[in-house]
Amino acid sequence: MKPQFIDHAAYRQRQIGGGLSEKILNLLMPPQCPVTGEAVIAPGVLSPKGWAALHFIEAPFCDHCGVPYSTDYGEGVLCPSCIADPPSFIAARAALSYNNAAGKFVSDLKFNDRLDQVAMLARWMIRAGGDVLKPGAIIAPVPLHWRRLAARRFNQSGLLAAEIAKQSGFALLQRAVHRHRATPPQREILSVSARRRNVMGAFQVKQKFVPYVRGAHVILIDDVLTTGATISAAAGALRRAGADRVDALVLARVVKGGGGAI
Ligand SMILES: [Zn+2]
Repeated sequence: MKPQFIDHAAYRQRQIGGGLSEKILNLLMPPQCPVTGEAVIAPGVLSPKGWAALHFIEAPFCDHCGVPYSTDYGEGVLCPSCIADPPSFIAARAALSYNNAAGKFVSDLKFNDRLDQVAMLARWMIRAGGDVLKPGAIIAPVPLHWRRLAARRFNQSGLLAAEIAKQSGFALLQRAVHRHRATPPQREILSVSARRRNVMGAFQVKQKFVPYVRGAHVILIDDVLTTGATISAAAGALRRAGADRVDALVLARVVKGGGGAI
């Protein structure tokens, strides 16, 4: 069953009474590590085990798609899949390698309304996106189809995009990319080519946003990158609308052997 709260801190205040101090709230409802569920000293704090379970992506990685390399091949070396089939974005960066711990943040955000974690996740993404967050860039989320948006009530990528824009001072175009065709969730499709076909033509830039996009450097924000097919399709729509450059910044990306099948 869906938890009945939107904001963890606000929920704690509402349920127990707005006048109580954080110390008393912590005694009555001990804060938990969002990864392991262990007791921690304050809301939003990760336990040592929680930190250890997260795999932050560091260089070396493919310049194009950001997949981490176990060996440093030198600057500008692309991975085989980017050479064989270049995506429509120039560079994708991810804060985390997708595993159970990263997946918990994603599902807590998408399905459990854990909006209290957005600020921390956005900080991690800004750190990971240091080489694509260039002055003048525009932040834009990968959109949900309106039917899925109505069912979920918010777009998790939109929340991350808004927080990244707020923290970093970049312009935000929340509705620049429009998903005009509903598609089955990518996690239900296994092959790379079928995932690509699934989202082909699913995105467009509405005419009224074209002047903002034309000639711009747009950074697409999403929660998870698996094969890159969805972000590449959204990037293709921006390029067709005249965007000069499109990059991607995600919370977590699937890495082969990273324990992250979704
Ligand atoms: Zn690559």
